[in-house]
Amino acid sequence: MRAAVFDAFRAPLVVREIDAPECPRDGVVVRVAACGVCRSDWHGWTGADPDVTAPHVPGHEFAGTVDEVGADCRRFRRGDRVTAPFILACGACPDCLGGDPTVCADQHVVGFSSYGAFAERAAVPRADFNLVPLPESLDFTAAAGMGCRVTTAFRALADRARLRPGEWLAVHGCGGVGLSAVMVGAALGAAVLAVDVNPAALNLARGLGATATLDASGIDDVGAAVRDLTGGGAQVSVDALGITATFHNSLHGLRRLGRHVQIGLPLGADAAPTLPLQELVYARQITIMGTRGIAAARFPALFAMVAAGRLDPARLVTGTIPLEQAGAALAAMDGYAGAGITVIDRF
Ligand SMILES: [Zn+2]
Ligand SMILES: [Zn+2]
Repeated sequence: MRAAVFDAFRAPLVVREIDAPECPRDGVVVRVAACGVCRSDWHGWTGADPDVTAPHVPGHEFAGTVDEVGADCRRFRRGDRVTAPFILACGACPDCLGGDPTVCADQHVVGFSSYGAFAERAAVPRADFNLVPLPESLDFTAAAGMGCRVTTAFRALADRARLRPGEWLAVHGCGGVGLSAVMVGAALGAAVLAVDVNPAALNLARGLGATATLDASGIDDVGAAVRDLTGGGAQVSVDALGITATFHNSLHGLRRLGRHVQIGLPLGADAAPTLPLQELVYARQITIMGTRGIAAARFPALFAMVAAGRLDPARLVTGTIPLEQAGAALAAMDGYAGAGITVIDRF
């Protein structure tokens, strides 16, 4: 099959023939119809993600049709339209059985701990637990645009922060997952303040339902500016980028008892930022939460919001490309100029 491979970190991706994945006994092989290009793929390509070794095929935001079914897989048939969360959990441990597969200790992360879906086919193990049937109304490109970013934003806001209608949500960093948080937050009834240094990203945020935007470039105290614009601070705030500046800005923009959710992946020099414990956690009594991925079982709640017309993931997709351009799309993430989500739709 054709796949986009990198042989060393930061080496250009090359489209070439590689062996198709074997079908797991408890899993399926999906014929990939669409796959999003994500900042997490970029982290893997640069060598910053400890799960990734070279050579490697990135890609964890895929949708397609079931092509092969393992002997022990019961819920799926050849031809089913499907997607999957990037965390493929064991389905049998206490965390999985308790509804928290994103913290499963025996998880497999497609596109990171194994080859991903910048390829004609991708294997999904433990499919009965991890694979998600796609509603007919959602096309493959929109479905790929949803995962991991809309799904991650949904879990962060609905399940972790328990964002309520009428609350202020501040979103720091309006890349793919930040814009997803803007759209999901607005759909959940929050007033959303989008913060970024890129005017094009803020424009997209306005179109996706942001009540207000803040261009943080040249502002010394972004937290104070957020508190001003939200009448005392946001009840919920997310760092959707994962760098120290956006983490601190998010914490400082919260009002008393505010809830911060860390969505962006902090790596390298940003992995262990300082924490104003006295000022914010003790005196302002803020809560700091982590989030990573989503359970397969939560996709239907998201699909229901799409079916009800409250969310339109297709609006996040600002470009579609052939597999040959996947490498260029990843390399373009060295800068922060891009806005919206790019999806590979020709393999
Ligand atoms: Zn498990
Ligand atoms: Zn992703």
